Amino acid sequence: MDKKFEAFKLELQKVYENNKIYRQKMKDKNLTPEDIDSWNDIKKLPLTTKEDILSSYPYGYNCVDQSKIKMYHASSGTTGKPLIVGLSENDMILRQEIIKEDAIMAGIRKDDIVQICYGFGMFTGGFSFYEGLKELGCQIIPTGTMSTEMQLFYMQQLKPTVLLTSPSHAMHLSEKSKELKIDIKTLPIRIIRVGSELLTEAMRKKIKASWGNKVSVTQDYGMTETLGPGLGMECSYENGMHLNEHYYFELIDPITKEPTEKNVGELVVTTLYTECFPLIRYKTSDLVEITTEKCPCGNSAPRIKKFLGRTDDMLKIKGVKVFVSQIEDFLFMHPYFTHQYEIVLTKENYKDILTINIEYKEDLPKDIKKQLPNYEIEIEEEFKNRFGITSQINIINNNTLPLSKGKAIRVRDLRKVKV
Ligand SMILES: [Zn+2]
Repeated sequence: MDKKFEAFKLELQKVYENNKIYRQKMKDKNLTPEDIDSWNDIKKLPLTTKEDILSSYPYGYNCVDQSKIKMYHASSGTTGKPLIVGLSENDMILRQEIIKEDAIMAGIRKDDIVQICYGFGMFTGGFSFYEGLKELGCQIIPTGTMSTEMQLFYMQQLKPTVLLTSPSHAMHLSEKSKELKIDIKTLPIRIIRVGSELLTEAMRKKIKASWGNKVSVTQDYGMTETLGPGLGMECSYENGMHLNEHYYFELIDPITKEPTEKNVGELVVTTLYTECFPLIRYKTSDLVEITTEKCPCGNSAPRIKKFLGRTDDMLKIKGVKVFVSQIEDFLFMHPYFTHQYEIVLTKENYKDILTINIEYKEDLPKDIKKQLPNYEIEIEEEFKNRFGITSQINIINNNTLPLSKGKAIRVRDLRKVKV
């Protein structure tokens, strides 16, 4: 038996013995851990969903005695309660290892000065990176979620070489720097490692254009449920995120929930070495495209080439399915806009109404500003041609949309709300 499968068997045994909900799900399928003899058999096992975890709130998914838990983290919980995950001492050591690996993949070295702009709170970002990078030997500037002005102040004073943040925050920083007349391109930052939000190729280009084209802009991917960042790790070739060998990954058809042989599907993850909160076949709700093409970095792990969206990020507008990321790609093709936009969905006479508010760049020449109302109509037409959906595009003043401190909120779906 290969070592990875051995680790999986132990993980499954642990879940079967300690997690009542999953054990019941296995019993419903007449399965015990002994029935699973190969990676192929794993398909027989039931999936784990976010709802399963939340139904056992807050401790039902822990596989160790509560006294062994050293730290808690929680996800933002876009609807209802946050999802709480406990970490044992071993889990914290594992997480350090994973973050170290992630950082090395990004090109971060021992002598780097790293500014961490993730919150040091219940979210996993801040503390995970702090612990992993400390282990790697980096100098750390834990600015967390301070104001943009203060982030820039420390950046000027302490001269970080690496910035860890979300894509939208990297853009907030660059816009604020213009206002404060700070030339960020002269700062010694060589790597911007983004996470917590999807990085589209269009957004990568925008970040590079603002911070300097020689800055490496890469992303990582993770979730609270699997100890935090590092499930997927992009190397400096900027061509997709290598899947982490500490986990087992599968793709399923998002509709039928059956395993798919295609390279596109919903990502399902199984932890292999987690002590406190192991997960078997966890549905991530992330729709991805996987590639097994060789990467010049030499790492042979398959990569998430593209995020196609989240199954819960998929909007159905006038019967047409469209992902927020596709709309973002479309908007960012246009040169006059900042990265700030919102998609608003309402209903009138039982019909869906799509409105997109997007901010224009402060420094546009006057004659272009005058032309913006005509430009709105042009973009509406383009949008209709591209997606087959009628929209109302409003190009609005800079700094009109609320700034987000964590994940940017891109969609306000008011269709279900009675107004
Ligand atoms: Zn690579």
